Amino acid sequence: MLPAPAAIPALPWLAALFGACIGSFLNVVAWRLPRQESLLRPGSHCPRCGTPLAWFENLPVLGWLWLRARCRHCGAAIAPRYPLVELLTAGLWVAALSAQPGTMGPEPQPLLLVLAGWLLLSWLIPLTLIDLDRLWLPEPLCRTGLLLGLACTAVLGWNQGAAMGRELLFHHLMAAGVGLVGFEAVSALGERLVGKPALGLGDAKLAALLGAWLGLTGLGLTVVLAVFSGALVGMLGRLTGRLGKQQPFPFGPFLAAGGAAVWLLGKDLWLAWLGGLLLPV
Ligand SMILES: [Zn+2]
Repeated sequence: MLPAPAAIPALPWLAALFGACIGSFLNVVAWRLPRQESLLRPGSHCPRCGTPLAWFENLPVLGWLWLRARCRHCGAAIAPRYPLVELLTAGLWVAALSAQPGTMGPEPQPLLLVLAGWLLLSWLIPLTLIDLDRLWLPEPLCRTGLLLGLACTAVLGWNQGAAMGRELLFHHLMAAGVGLVGFEAVSALGERLVGKPALGLGDAKLAALLGAWLGLTGLGLTVVLAVFSGALVGMLGRLTGRLGKQQPFPFGPFLAAGGAAVWLLGKDLWLAWLGGLLLPV
């Protein structure tokens, strides 16, 4: 028997601590993966002068504060994005402790559900960062994240009986397929109508990943949230002139944020909210 998360009083602190350390690693992934560098070697160093970081400079958030956002050797600025990603990951890890996504069967084992949530939320962060940097969702990250989603679905499902396991896995496989095909269809349609793809191919792969974790309803809610928030940010960006008229901006971060919101707050809550918003009668 695994203990319930609530039975481990130190868990929120541990989640914040480990989450911040994982966030530090996710920064490395988002920087090195598109450059095809090893994720482990060499250790963290200043990207400008190459000076390796001492252990205390590597501490999440604290290292950045200690260095006052500058490399101690060459004075190159260290972007505030690094500590912000570490804080975000820590916050998401703590939030995942009380997440009830409602997409993993009626009675998922609580500790396994927390572990699955940590994996999903951590996976979405480098995808978001790389898409923001380069308008690109790396295929291997999407594919591995999809397989991990199906694996977590299978483990959480079979833990509730073989029949539930089969049903959940089938459902989430189907949702992954619908995500992939649906997004590619929209992109192809957009290409016909406007003469250029409306969505990147990476968006279809990220939608498939989210389908594998969230099922059909969860994926549908994610897409609605992503379209609303994407349209809002796009409009604000154009109104304030921070985004050029024809300038493309990535949709992946909105999908990732929508998926995280569905996991953390649960599909039933979003269904009730969006249902009340879209069907006021
Ligand atoms: Zn330096």
